[in-house]
Amino acid sequence: MGERAVPGDPAAGSGHGSDRAAGFVGCDETIERLYSYLDGELTEQRRLEITRHLDLCGPCVGAYGFEAELRKVIASRCKERVPEALIERVAKALQAETIRQAN
Ligand SMILES: [Zn+2]
Repeated sequence: MGERAVPGDPAAGSGHGSDRAAGFVGCDETIERLYSYLDGELTEQRRLEITRHLDLCGPCVGAYGFEAELRKVIASRCKERVPEALIERVAKALQAETIRQAN
């Protein structure tokens, strides 16, 4: 009645299921776990699986690189709050530069 299947990692923390250890992770799973991978939330075994997949799969490396870059940008933006006056000055400088180059 009140029971529900919990979506989660079936292999988490348990020692069995080792037949799966040598398996190859698919693109779907890699992309699905990309955020956890970047957050360092995966077990070492999982990390290795994802790393191995990224070694072999170009499209997934692209997705991984994009996410990683995005996170770096977001992290750095959040860390140092840029004063609005500075943003305005930079924007104006860029605008002037653009106009100068256009002429
Ligand atoms: Zn892939």
